[in-house]
Amino acid sequence: MPPFLHVGHGLFISDSMIVGVHPLAGFDKVLHYKVPEELRATAVVGALVRVPIMSALRLGVVCEIAPPKGFPIDKLKSISQVVYPFPALTEDLLPLASWMANYYAAPMDSIIETMIPAAVRRGAAIKIQKQLSILKELNKQELEKLTKRAPQQAKLYAFLKTQTHPVAKAVVLNRLHMTASSADSLIKAGVIQEEGLRIVRDAYEESWAVGEKVIEIAPTPNLEQQKSIDEIGESVKKKSFSTWLIHGVTGSGKTEVYLKTIEQVLKSGGGVIFLVPEVALTPQTVSRLRSRLEAIAPGHKCVVWHSALSEGERLDGWLALATGEARIVVGARSAVFAPIRDLRLIVVDEEHEPAYKQDETPRYHGRDVAVMRAKLACAVCVLGSATPSLESYLNAVSKRYHLSELKSRVDSRKLPHIHVVDMKIEVARQRGFTTLSRKLVDAMQDRLSAKEQIILFINRRGYSPSVVCTKCGHAEECTHCSITMTYHRSDERIRCHLCGEEKASPVRCPSCGSPEIRSRGMGTQRVEEAVRRVIPRARIARVDTDTMNKKHRLREILSDFRLGKIDVLVGTQMIGKGLDFPNVTLVGLIDADLSMHIPDFRANERTFQLLVQVAGRAGRGAKSGDVFVQTFTPASSAIQFSRHANYNGFADAELTSRKCFGYPPYRHIIHHLFKGPNPEKLAFFTSQWVKRVKEKFGDRIEVKGPTPAPIDKIKDQYRWQVWYFVPNVTPVIAELSTLRAAFQWPGDLTQSLDVDPSNLV
Ligand code: ADP
Ligand code: ZN
Ligand code: ZN
Repeated sequence: MPPFLHVGHGLFISDSMIVGVHPLAGFDKVLHYKVPEELRATAVVGALVRVPIMSALRLGVVCEIAPPKGFPIDKLKSISQVVYPFPALTEDLLPLASWMANYYAAPMDSIIETMIPAAVRRGAAIKIQKQLSILKELNKQELEKLTKRAPQQAKLYAFLKTQTHPVAKAVVLNRLHMTASSADSLIKAGVIQEEGLRIVRDAYEESWAVGEKVIEIAPTPNLEQQKSIDEIGESVKKKSFSTWLIHGVTGSGKTEVYLKTIEQVLKSGGGVIFLVPEVALTPQTVSRLRSRLEAIAPGHKCVVWHSALSEGERLDGWLALATGEARIVVGARSAVFAPIRDLRLIVVDEEHEPAYKQDETPRYHGRDVAVMRAKLACAVCVLGSATPSLESYLNAVSKRYHLSELKSRVDSRKLPHIHVVDMKIEVARQRGFTTLSRKLVDAMQDRLSAKEQIILFINRRGYSPSVVCTKCGHAEECTHCSITMTYHRSDERIRCHLCGEEKASPVRCPSCGSPEIRSRGMGTQRVEEAVRRVIPRARIARVDTDTMNKKHRLREILSDFRLGKIDVLVGTQMIGKGLDFPNVTLVGLIDADLSMHIPDFRANERTFQLLVQVAGRAGRGAKSGDVFVQTFTPASSAIQFSRHANYNGFADAELTSRKCFGYPPYRHIIHHLFKGPNPEKLAFFTSQWVKRVKEKFGDRIEVKGPTPAPIDKIKDQYRWQVWYFVPNVTPVIAELSTLRAAFQWPGDLTQSLDVDPSNLV
């Protein structure tokens, strides 16, 4: 049971009730207040309140009912207002906030502000529509009397009598040409009633779902799916905490398993959070999910939560959940904080996605927070992926999580055939660097003639400044850290940004001697041009960050592609998520290496995930699919294991190497970034600090650095960094924060801590 709940309501039998309030906006401690008589029913733990601080009123959250003893009661101020008559933070969210504040070394107020959306804190104008309906039926005599005395009122009564539902007050009065006074008299007399109904804005329906509405009939689960549904269902029934990892190959029908589990929870009256990566919130998936979910529990609303909501929509969705009007939310990362009552299930789809990690304060990981919240709420957490993160995989192998596997595609459709194209040979044959290999172009011609469709992916990790040989594929790695070294243009040197080892950038490949060694990157535009050159008749569309930002444009493109008006879709891997195009039989991955040669120990894992996910887009319909992977390093483990769709083989090999270097999931990493205008000063203070950390922690923390960050200067701010490697975060993080707070930092130096960073660049 969460610590806050031990304090019962019995403590304010005496004539004063005192609560602890955590103020927002820059405060990091709990203040105590008296609760006036009339607010006692609503000033419960988790309530959003306004309290006087100095001379201003500020927002805060009630975090404890305090024992009245030990407070100078006369000196305490009183709470001024309770913003909503129900808690803004459900019982499990407050202890979750404390856990996050500690674990992510983030201020409590920043966490509460993340949990309660700005629109809710501001209490943005709620659109209320007043509605009228009959409260007491009049008998014949009463009606006659009323008709004589007040004919207008009688007319209103008669009109309402003919209605089966409450009707909007403004509409009725307008229609009957009367003023509000007639209605008010009838209300006073108790004959009719007025209710304020919130109008729920539902922009999603209007702006996204149009033309994409998919009415789907639930398929009958196959044996594997049924087994998974049954075993997870057993856990759900127990109403205790457990975590499941569903490892299901692409197209194995994981969504069906989620939906059946959700159905079970909704039918038994519980609440559900369904998390998907932001980019997967495409109109297609959302309307599909929504229509299925709303069909499960008719009349039940499913709240959709994503970054493009307006303030009003966000508030409406939040209110629907907080009041219990809706019991299910589908959304991106921050939906993990939805005020769901009686939470029994959290689903995290594509749990391996780095998008679950927030890259600004508080830097939390949506998946890890989901597991923690499930624990605090005694709920079940279901993580699903075709390529689980190694963190989750290790948790499953070591039995901390239950594992459920879906090994075959539904209807036993074949996995696509993966062709690995060795670009070294292409470059030699075509005498220079080329975007599209001969083999890929031939395959594209074939597919176009057969009136089938093609997706070409490029790797969005193309920004990384690494040097790769285009002849042999060699990329310089640090001998101590086994990560790619980073190219620094300013001094033409390459550095390991973990341990700081550095050397001059090679002019010839150290492996084969070729001068064709350079840092590369490629945009969607370049690929589009290349396709136009070789296949002029193809109808091509491009999807990249620009198009992703215009939601209507994206919808148009995807819908045209579905209708067959486009032959080739070129985009970053973000378009692959959750899309299901039956006529796509060919997928090309233009540059598989870009995600491999980045200075991050997760580079292999990301490449493997990318390859499997991309391959999963081909052959989803009745026709089988082909995938072409262009690479300079065809022998690398990510490519070889993904070619044979061997996740376990890859994961085991990768874990062995992670263990050897002490990388996650065997240890946790904490990243410490320092910024300042003066490089010497920055270097000096960071090394002083590192000395201090080493003195204090000894071998409880392994410190790497300080080193310049891979991007060592942004807007005249120099950047240095330190890495801490620890077996567990909890035993050290509080001490580290205290030490940091006590250290004498110069005024122009800023810094931030990132616990469990998901990218090392
Ligand atoms: P995954 O998320 O595992 O890649 P999906 O859940 O997207 O797979 O399912 C892929 C497709 O298979 C969807 O179109 C879905 O409707 C369909 N499907 C799922 N289960 C079944 C089933 N038992 N029989 C037939 N089709 C199914
Ligand atoms: Zn070489
Ligand atoms: Zn190194």
